[in-house]
Amino acid sequence: MRFIDEYRDAGLGKKLVARIEQLSTRPARLMEFCGGHTVAIMRNGIRQLLPPAVEMLSGPGCPVCVTANADIDKAIALARLPNAIITTFGDMMKVPGSYSSLQQARGEGGDIRVVYSTQDALEIARDNPQKSVVFIGIGFETTAPTIAASVLQAEQEKIENFYVLCLLKLCPPIMKTLLDLGELKLDGIVCPGHVSVIIGSQPYEFIPRDYDIACVVSGFEPLDILLAVAMLVEQVEKGKPRVEIAYRRGVNPEGNKRALELMSTVFEADKADWRGIGVVPASGLKLRDKYARFDAGQAFTVTLEPVREAKGCICGDILRGVKTPADCKLFRKVCLPEHPVGPCMVSSEGACAAYYQYGADYG
Ligand code: SF4
Repeated sequence: MRFIDEYRDAGLGKKLVARIEQLSTRPARLMEFCGGHTVAIMRNGIRQLLPPAVEMLSGPGCPVCVTANADIDKAIALARLPNAIITTFGDMMKVPGSYSSLQQARGEGGDIRVVYSTQDALEIARDNPQKSVVFIGIGFETTAPTIAASVLQAEQEKIENFYVLCLLKLCPPIMKTLLDLGELKLDGIVCPGHVSVIIGSQPYEFIPRDYDIACVVSGFEPLDILLAVAMLVEQVEKGKPRVEIAYRRGVNPEGNKRALELMSTVFEADKADWRGIGVVPASGLKLRDKYARFDAGQAFTVTLEPVREAKGCICGDILRGVKTPADCKLFRKVCLPEHPVGPCMVSSEGACAAYYQYGADYG
C-alpha cells in the first residue's frame, strides 16, 4: 500500500476483524502503550469492533501526561525568573502543576512561547541574546534526537543563552517497571510506533522472554492497529509470544542508527519522575557532562513549593493501566477539556481527552 487512505479501507478492516474473531478462542488482555494509539483506537471505534474476549487497556505513553507535577512546577518556576523566555510545545501550556500552569504563568507576565520545533527555540535564542531561552524538553525516544541535534547546533553556533529542561523519558525501562509492579495481567502489548522508528523492535525482546507477553509494533492507522491486534491474538492463541512488527513501513528491528547515535552523543540514561509511578532509575535522559552547560536544571536555581496532586484525579492509575477515565468521578463532570483537572484531559494524546472526545459510551 502506498497511500494513507489505503490504511483506512473499511473492506480490509472488516476482513481483519473477521480474522481476529476467527483466531480468538480465549481471553486476551492487550495494552496499547502509546497515547497516539489510544487516540487512534478511540477515534476509530476499534474496541467496539473487537470480540469481547479481546480487552484493550491504555498505558503510560503520553509524554505530557507522565510528566510529574514536580517537573511541571520546575518549568513554571523557570518562567518566573527575570530575563527568561520559556519555549514549549503547545500541549504543555494548560497542564496543571501543583499550583499553576504555564498558561497561568504567562497570564501573570511570564514570557512563555509555544514552538513547533527545537529549531524555533534556537531561533528565539539567536534573536534574544540578552535573555536566557529555555526549551521544555518533554517526550520519549521520538523527540530526543531532535533535542540532541539542537544542543549540538547551539554548541556549534556558540549560542550561549540556550538551555534545555531535560524531562525526556525512555519506553522500555518503564514497560519493565510496569510489568514488575505486577498490577497488570497482560497477554500482549501494542508497542509504540514512533518510538520504535528510533529504537527499533529489538529493545522489546525482554518482554516475551522474561514475562511471556506478546509484542507487536504498530502504526497509527486503523488497519495498522487491527493488524497488530490480529498478530497479538495469534501469538496468544499459539502460546508463543515474541516481538513482531506490523509497521514495516516505519520500523526495522535495529532502529534508526543515526538518531540513536545523536541521542547517545548528547544524553545518557538517568532517573526520571513518572506521574503515578514515581522516580524510576535509568528511565529518562540527562545531558552528558560535556553538554551540562545547556542543562536548565543546573544553570538556574529555583525555589519550589511542596508538590501537590489534584484531589480526585486518578491520572496516575490510568497511566499504569489499572483504571480508565470512566472510573474517575470528575470525568465529564468537573474535569473537561476547557477546565482540565489533570494532564490526561489536556494532552492531545491523553486517555481522558480521547475518552471525552470519542467515547460517548464512557462516563
Ligand atoms: Fe484526572 Fe480529569 Fe482524567 Fe479524572 S478525568 S483522571 S481528573 S484528567
